[in-house]
Amino acid sequence: MGLRAALGLLPLLPLLLLAAVRGAAVRGERRRAELFLQKYGYLGAPQAGRLSPVEFTAALRDFQRVSHLRPSGVLDVPTLRQMGRPRCGMGDGESRPSAPRRRRSMQHGSKWHKRHLTYRMVNWPPYLPQHEVRLAVRAAFELWSNVSSLVFWEARDGPADIRLTFFHGDHNDGLNNAFDGPGGALAHAFFPRRGEAHFDSAERWSLHSGKGRNLFVVVAHEVGHTLGLEHSPTKSALMSPYYKKLGKDFVLNWDDILAIQNLYGKPSKGLAIQLPGRVFTHFQDWSGDLYGEEHQRRSLSTYYCHSFFDAITADTEHNLYVFKGSHFWVVSASGNASQPQPLHMRWPGLPAGIDACAYSPFSHSFYFFKGGRCWNYHHSTLMSGFPQKCSAHGLPRHPDTALYFQQLRRLVLFKGAKYFVLSEETLTLEPYYPRSLLDWDGVPPGTTGAVVHRDGFLYFFRDDRYWRFNQAKLQVVANGKWAAELPWMGCWDANGGHILF
Ligand SMILES: [Zn+2]
Ligand SMILES: [Zn+2]
Repeated sequence: MGLRAALGLLPLLPLLLLAAVRGAAVRGERRRAELFLQKYGYLGAPQAGRLSPVEFTAALRDFQRVSHLRPSGVLDVPTLRQMGRPRCGMGDGESRPSAPRRRRSMQHGSKWHKRHLTYRMVNWPPYLPQHEVRLAVRAAFELWSNVSSLVFWEARDGPADIRLTFFHGDHNDGLNNAFDGPGGALAHAFFPRRGEAHFDSAERWSLHSGKGRNLFVVVAHEVGHTLGLEHSPTKSALMSPYYKKLGKDFVLNWDDILAIQNLYGKPSKGLAIQLPGRVFTHFQDWSGDLYGEEHQRRSLSTYYCHSFFDAITADTEHNLYVFKGSHFWVVSASGNASQPQPLHMRWPGLPAGIDACAYSPFSHSFYFFKGGRCWNYHHSTLMSGFPQKCSAHGLPRHPDTALYFQQLRRLVLFKGAKYFVLSEETLTLEPYYPRSLLDWDGVPPGTTGAVVHRDGFLYFFRDDRYWRFNQAKLQVVANGKWAAELPWMGCWDANGGHILF
């Protein structure tokens, strides 16, 4: 190479070096991601050979799905950021979409065979007042005893069923469980009946809602594991794997409550008691009396009444089906709501958190929509060829509402400011659609579901509101709050005649 040519390359050198450094960084990121996926149960133990790119991509997609990220299988910035977030050190096991479907809490088939359990603080974080930590821990156990048949007692010394201990780094329960300093894994616990929860001493534990890691929230989560609960795929559940700041609202999500009641049943008094998160924000200010007028009694049987739901439909017998997370409720024509039932018991293979559902009285089929996919069940049987990628034939991804519209004898999907009319036989779009939502005079965009009621009106729902739609005039004629104003939504106490929430 002539000097002139070599000099010509000089300005490129920093770029080449940069590329080499970037390459090493990418390899480092990929290695760290592998270790993360192994630690949290998305990849098996490392084999003798190298991990195949296909396995890595599949595991990464699983992780992205569980973390509510786009399942691209690419190690992008949002995925790396998610992996770096503080979380529980336990694996995600059953919440993985590709894991065999079993009841989340039953993976280890483990639970306590008694209802009265003792717990003990083996040691204490040195910089927090012991009596305040004691109150926070007691409150964390009471979250669970308030909604189940369990009863807890603190043992100040001697043996206890459940022991809570702070540790630094490696503490002799396997390298996978060694603590990693501030951030990353905050704590872990063991399923029944080992009765141990371990907390990373290196975290900045706090009893405030604002700074540091809120000890109450993390203890409450780990106690869930010691009682037999797995991680929840529901983002707002206490048992979801990632650390959450203590919010104003309820600490336990309905998904947590159903999981603990699956194992231990309801409180003996028959009523689940939930206290809002704001009660727990300052343990320093606590007198220790949790149960003043703050008592909130909530009936779990109609939990959907408290806020919004995912989807709703009605069958030919005028039974309503209300969908929320991984459960559904049936409200009979007389207005009585069933207990919540797991979706997959009735519709095997259906994922949690569906976007929309419509029942066709014509074919007696349930149609479910989630993301770009759709499912068609005749009774409980998934029809062949389903789930389908419905977005591939022009249907919107994540539809707001699905509806079987008698006038057209067609299925209608609503999404944002548009609606789509499809033939039931082919689930393909009819000509000239989508069209503007303005055709449905007065119906707001972003509804969560719609049903035709016995009174002949079509009802649209969004959050806590409904819109009554006259099918002949094609316009909204009334609106209001559904839980309080529509008795047939199952949110009324049939005996007392008052609202259940
Ligand atoms: Zn956990
Ligand atoms: Zn440990």
